[in-house]
Parts: sequence; C-alpha cells; structure tokens
Amino acid sequence: MVVDAKGRVLDMGRAVRLATPAQRQAILARYATCYRDDCAIPADMCEIDHVKGWAEGGTTDLDLLAPACTWHNRDKAAHPERYCVRRNEDGTWTLLYLGKRGRFAGRFRR
Ligand SMILES: [Zn+2]
Repeated sequence: MVVDAKGRVLDMGRAVRLATPAQRQAILARYATCYRDDCAIPADMCEIDHVKGWAEGGTTDLDLLAPACTWHNRDKAAHPERYCVRRNEDGTWTLLYLGKRGRFAGRFRR
C-alpha cells in the first residue's frame, strides 16, 4: 500500500472514481502542466485523469493518475483512438496525440 507522509492512502483501486485530495496533492508535486505533451494549462487547473480509463477497468491509484485539462480529458474520453500514453523515466506519463484519424490512419489511403 502506498501512503503519503501523513499516512494517507494513495492507491484507491476501484473503491473511488475521483482522485482523493491526497492523491491530487501528490500529482501536483509531480506535474507542472496538463500531461498532454504540448499543453501549457497549469496542473493545478486540471482535472485528474485515469491514465487507463475508468470505464475500461482503470483504477484510482496514484501511479495511474495524471493531470489533464478539461479539454484534453474530455477529448481523450470521447476519442480514445486519437491518443496514446508514454511512460517517462521519472514515472510520470505523457499523453500523445495521434491525430484525428488515430490508429485508423491510412485505411483510406490510395
Ligand atoms: Zn491539456
């Protein structure tokens, strides 16, 4: 079990969907901005995204949460095929945009 310096649990599994205040605080210490690679929205103005979507069975564990601005969080939820995630050496995540055609790019090429 992962806990912070105050003993607060940082891995909630499927018990809660929304990040806890302790998780949010830990995430803000790791990220300066939205985790989309070219988005400059400050992390403290972001929502907390499940790197592996909640609807797909993702968990509310610190290691699988990242800050996403409202626009990127909603666009990723609505169009998951347009995004992929990269794990960085420091353990953080980067959200990469694949383009509007996403993984289907090329299907209609001649
Ligand atoms: Zn963003």
